[in-house]
Amino acid sequence: MPTLIVCEHCDTVYQRAPLQPGQRARCLRCAAPLYRADLAPPALLALTLAAAVVFLIANVFPIVSLDLQGSSSQSTLWGAIHAAWDSEVGPVAVLVALTAFFFPLLQILLLGAVLLALRRGGLRRSLLVDALHSLRFLRPWSMVEVFLLGALVAVVKMGALAAVQPRPGLYGFAALTLLLTALNSFDLHRLWECLDE
Ligand SMILES: [Zn+2]
Repeated sequence: MPTLIVCEHCDTVYQRAPLQPGQRARCLRCAAPLYRADLAPPALLALTLAAAVVFLIANVFPIVSLDLQGSSSQSTLWGAIHAAWDSEVGPVAVLVALTAFFFPLLQILLLGAVLLALRRGGLRRSLLVDALHSLRFLRPWSMVEVFLLGALVAVVKMGALAAVQPRPGLYGFAALTLLLTALNSFDLHRLWECLDE
């Protein structure tokens, strides 16, 4: 973790001090927020488990249903990926499969495994180190929010042509976006510190 922190508003430099859960540091000069305490690992584990459940809901249930001239169809994420693969945009299908399914799934599983291992012990340190490196690599590539935005734009655009209804999968992706944002705001250095302890 960087030891110095600069106030974004008045450029005052501070030495970073450890905070208790729920506390936040403010600039003494201009009172702007500097940083807040990271979630404790048990709270992070709870968030990760919630993300796993929501990931399942988002992927099992259809995202949208479409009614056009009396015929109705609905699609899950994988239905959309299959459809994209079969049409002329195969690379897009691969990109969506990686960034909206495989990378977020790997991220949730790895983070859950690391947190459980730190809690219970029993996993080799070298494995944990590899897992933490992989988590850092996966973070920028997990882009559920981009998929969600694309799906919302499609729902609005298609609304002019057919009766489009959002389905539970879409709400699942919205909740997953929030949970992954919360998980990604966690400073991974904290887990390195837990590993060193
Ligand atoms: Zn300041």
